Amino acid sequence: MHDRMKAAFESCRLCPRACGVDRTRVGAGGRAGVCGEGDRMRVAWVGPHFGEEPPITGENGSGTVFFTGCPLRCVFCQNYQISHEGLGGVVSVEELVERIVRMVEEEHVHNVNFVTPDPFFPWVFQVVERLREKGYDLPVVLNLSGYQSVEMLRLAEGVADIFLPDYKYSDSRLAARYASCPDYPGVALDAIGEMVRQKGFLDVFETGESLAGRGVLVRHLILPGHVENSLDALSALFVELGPDLPVSLMSQYRPRTDRLPGSLTRPLAREEFDRVYAHVEELGFRHLFVQFPSEGGEEEAPFVPDFREARPFRGGPNG
Ligand code: SF4
Repeated sequence: MHDRMKAAFESCRLCPRACGVDRTRVGAGGRAGVCGEGDRMRVAWVGPHFGEEPPITGENGSGTVFFTGCPLRCVFCQNYQISHEGLGGVVSVEELVERIVRMVEEEHVHNVNFVTPDPFFPWVFQVVERLREKGYDLPVVLNLSGYQSVEMLRLAEGVADIFLPDYKYSDSRLAARYASCPDYPGVALDAIGEMVRQKGFLDVFETGESLAGRGVLVRHLILPGHVENSLDALSALFVELGPDLPVSLMSQYRPRTDRLPGSLTRPLAREEFDRVYAHVEELGFRHLFVQFPSEGGEEEAPFVPDFREARPFRGGPNG
């Protein structure tokens, strides 16, 4: 590990939690930060994913790399096994490059999609550099919680082609309650603004191509019992970034543990989705992706993964 990389992990400020912990000592008696990760890259799954929005998924799937750990750690996380339970294994830069190359060659995925890469940014930047040196210049997607610092995003500017950030909370009390993160609403809006400054909006609406090569698409997961949070989040995005911001509205929420509070113990109700959908239409976003609630209940919720399986996602050609 070269010196700058070592310094990034010795007093970690890779995300706005700015824990300042020495991640090189995690596992050797040292304290971990909020993400729980040491200085070695850990990955839960690498493979084609067919549950992203159509310009990201295409015919052959998005080439996802799911990292272990998360700085936000929302209590309801849909990827609970990897964000909270630490499912995943250590990989080196070369090993991960090899796995990605194999996926690209065998599955013909349309992009390389790093999911929650921020605790491992220094390694991920090296992975992308090695892929490009080897001639793999597929679009690089950074799939993020929205809780990133502008400073770190500037370091990622030459690495990312596409940003897929969430905008989860407009209500700081909710962000405090579910993620111990009361500054999320403002930090994430600044982060998304920086992403748009760098890449613009998802390019498919200008190019007319079916697959995205560059730009930003913001996702919002509607939480059961928290319609007001969604209405305000979508209004804030509209006011900040205007009607051309591509937005993906998601209704897939499912409880992932039995330790959840109040309304989070149930799926989203149809009436809740309808209220949010009506609002988003009324605001006048021009480029919307909408995941309508499935009528079939739990059995038909294809996007809630089980990372203990070789193919964690049901649905799609590999489901
Ligand atoms: S990446 Fe992890 S250790 Fe570093 S600041 Fe964020 S939560 Fe803390």
